[in-house]
Amino acid sequence: MRNRSRNLEVLLSAEEIEQRCAELGEQISHDYGDREVHVIAVLKGSFMFLADLVRNISLDVSIDFLGLSSYGSRKATSGVVRMTSDLSLPIQGRSVIVVEDIIDTGLTMKYLLENLQTRKPESIAVCTLLDKPSNRRVEVPIDYVGFEIPDEFVIGYGLDDAEFSRHLPYIGVVKEAGNES
Ligand code: 5GP
Repeated sequence: MRNRSRNLEVLLSAEEIEQRCAELGEQISHDYGDREVHVIAVLKGSFMFLADLVRNISLDVSIDFLGLSSYGSRKATSGVVRMTSDLSLPIQGRSVIVVEDIIDTGLTMKYLLENLQTRKPESIAVCTLLDKPSNRRVEVPIDYVGFEIPDEFVIGYGLDDAEFSRHLPYIGVVKEAGNES
């Protein structure tokens, strides 16, 4: 049987991610004092990070989801961001924290922040599990970063490889066996 995780090299283990989620949750809880936070998770990639992060936040938390898609091919961004599903709740006057799986070129987050600003939240912070700064094309403000990683295509822990491998509890880099790029 074909196994899509067979050529994977572990970049971040489940234990390292768990530990970092605890630190980020503690940091957010500290920074917001006794305020309520409204967490917006960007689907699909951030579903696992969201679940682990919010369990470490000791504040009143409400959660909403939004779907964005930017990748035209397997590994290269098309540069065109598309909203595939919108929020279900208004954010006016709320302290919003956007939770993202990875910020690469920054185009997706720039689009999202511009969109959310028009809805008049009290504040918006960005929390990303992974940051790939070497590939940035536009500047975006990031308040919380789990890990800075090199410019490699990573999968697992929510991140997909053509819709597969999101379920893996760790983050890995695909080591191609052949000449595929
Ligand atoms: P950006 O717009 O910052 O270039 O990319 C943001 C989106 O591209 C992420 O939410 C994610 O869906 C996808 N992406 C960027 N880098 C990677 C990667 O290394 N692996 C996977 N699976 N998706 C990525």
